[in-house]
Amino acid sequence: MKSGCVSQELKAVGAISQRATAGVTAPGYSKTGIRKSKTGRWRAAALIALNLFMIAHIIQWRIVGKTVSPIEPSETMYTLQRGFVNAGFVFFALAILATLIFGRFVCGWGCHILALQDLCGWFLKKIGLHPKPFRSRLLVYVPLIGALYMFLWPVVYRSIWNPEHLPLIPKFTNHLVTTNFWQTFPSIAVAIPFLFICGFVTVYFLGQKGFCTYACPYGGFFGLADKFSPGKIRVTPACNQCGHCTATCTSNVAVHAEVKQYGMVVDPGCMKCMDCVSVFPNDALYFGFGKPTILVPKSNAIRKNYSLTWPEEIIGVVVFLGSFLAVRGVYALVPFLMALGCATVTTFLALKTWRLLRAKELSFYRFNLKYSGKIRQAGWAFAAFSCAWIGLNAHSGWVRYHEVLGDRAFKRVQLPDELALAQPNPARWLREADRQNIVQGRKYFEAASNFGLFANKETLQKLAWFEYLLGDADQAVQLLSQAAEHQTGESKALSLYYRGAILNRQGRHEEAHASLEQALAERDDLILARQEKGESLWQLGRRQEAVSVWAAAVQRNPQLALANNELAGAARLAGRLDEATAYEEQADKATPNNGLFHWVLGRRLQDLGMIELAKKHFQQAEQLRLGSDGSSGQ
Ligand code: SF4
Ligand code: SF4
Repeated sequence: MKSGCVSQELKAVGAISQRATAGVTAPGYSKTGIRKSKTGRWRAAALIALNLFMIAHIIQWRIVGKTVSPIEPSETMYTLQRGFVNAGFVFFALAILATLIFGRFVCGWGCHILALQDLCGWFLKKIGLHPKPFRSRLLVYVPLIGALYMFLWPVVYRSIWNPEHLPLIPKFTNHLVTTNFWQTFPSIAVAIPFLFICGFVTVYFLGQKGFCTYACPYGGFFGLADKFSPGKIRVTPACNQCGHCTATCTSNVAVHAEVKQYGMVVDPGCMKCMDCVSVFPNDALYFGFGKPTILVPKSNAIRKNYSLTWPEEIIGVVVFLGSFLAVRGVYALVPFLMALGCATVTTFLALKTWRLLRAKELSFYRFNLKYSGKIRQAGWAFAAFSCAWIGLNAHSGWVRYHEVLGDRAFKRVQLPDELALAQPNPARWLREADRQNIVQGRKYFEAASNFGLFANKETLQKLAWFEYLLGDADQAVQLLSQAAEHQTGESKALSLYYRGAILNRQGRHEEAHASLEQALAERDDLILARQEKGESLWQLGRRQEAVSVWAAAVQRNPQLALANNELAGAARLAGRLDEATAYEEQADKATPNNGLFHWVLGRRLQDLGMIELAKKHFQQAEQLRLGSDGSSGQ
């Protein structure tokens, strides 16, 4: 605050006695005459300890290779959708329960994003900038809508449509301990901008709790639970409406007005940081139990001041939605929470720039953007930043649009992978509709890749598949290499597997073997890569090693029809007929009664020189009305 302890907005919320601004210069008091918060230091210590604990958790996992699964509310999605009972779910459930009783303490004392927001707020104040809250009537519902979308929508979707025929209530399994701690987290290259946008950019533009108020889905549930909680900041008759509490509150709560009206703080944005209790000159505030917010009559509501007019609110919602859809998932990089954070900032910038054009006077922090109808230097700088941000958003939207249309076309192609990978050129299996979808989809993916600012690893992978289906295996191999360079974990393993499989079909077995080795180094359990690796080894003349690799694959999954056939073929060629028969019987049990499947087996065995077994499968394909060349016997 520039003078005294009371902002313009605060004055607008309710009358504040002049005593509030009468500076007190004594130890333990700030320059504004407000007593310094003693709990602030405790809270800072708690938040630093929390961050240190998070770092220790990661270090422990790196050293031991196994640890408690991430204590992160987003992990609850995997519990609700797949039945994985993990530490994140246990934490979130306990946190909501605690909020229902004590109010929103978890936010104020136990959130690492809040720690970043506080750090940013502290830093800005140090350089003389006091984040001013942005107040919207409609955007405050974003966190709750986000929470319902994240946690409730998948359950509703499954109970109504359920295209994958999953059980309504998943089978619960224990995932409290994990060896793959980072599996569900974005890469470091995404995590850093994510924390920067959510922890710093939102504070600068939207106020000290900008992310909590307009973006955080967990806050949506905590805020709702807080309304039912009997634990509240309450007031004694000693309160003299000095306003120190409101001036101190970084959650933009009109504390003095609420305690006057209701005898307690009812705003669900109150994070129970206890600063207001600590700074109150005559200890008139305390934390105590009593009536929850939900029982406060609506007719008593305090009139609030908002930053936007109603038309601006509506435009704001449209801008928010557009920006969210534009950035969410673009380049397969931007996660849900980051997209919400970006969209709130875009909305603020768009509306402020609109005002810059229309208003006669406008300021931002201590900067005069426009004065007497003339845009000042600071105004031009603001407009330039705003245009760059919004332009980047629009460009992301354009890329995302092409990614989505490409994805749709990709999903419409019906050709099974095994059939496409049975021989070097799968063109003969493509129906006209498939071909049209591939050509269309390739166009969209190429546009997204050629004009995007970052490589989209998922798009490259799908584009590679389209190229392969259209007969350009070399281009597919190259694109899969590019995709793998940007990927990690399972998706990288898959790109390398497909690359290896295509190289095997092309007869480039040395390269195929290297690619499949890398795929298995990434994901040891990728059984198809093991099967393919056996084929490249066999073709390279390293037959004993090939047999060991197929045997290892079958040991992991005895139902592998191709690997069992390959082991049978190898045993037959080595003259070990009993062993061959045993593998063949095992293979037959796992082989579906499908002409195409028999034809695929025949092709793969024929390539390996296992002619007798190949013939057997071609004959079975023929009996099932498919010729040995794969043509329909109709
Ligand atoms: S609202 Fe979200 S970001 Fe804010 S403190 Fe709560 S959990 Fe953290
Ligand atoms: S009302 Fe008081 S306890 Fe709640 S957030 Fe504001 S300062 Fe903290």
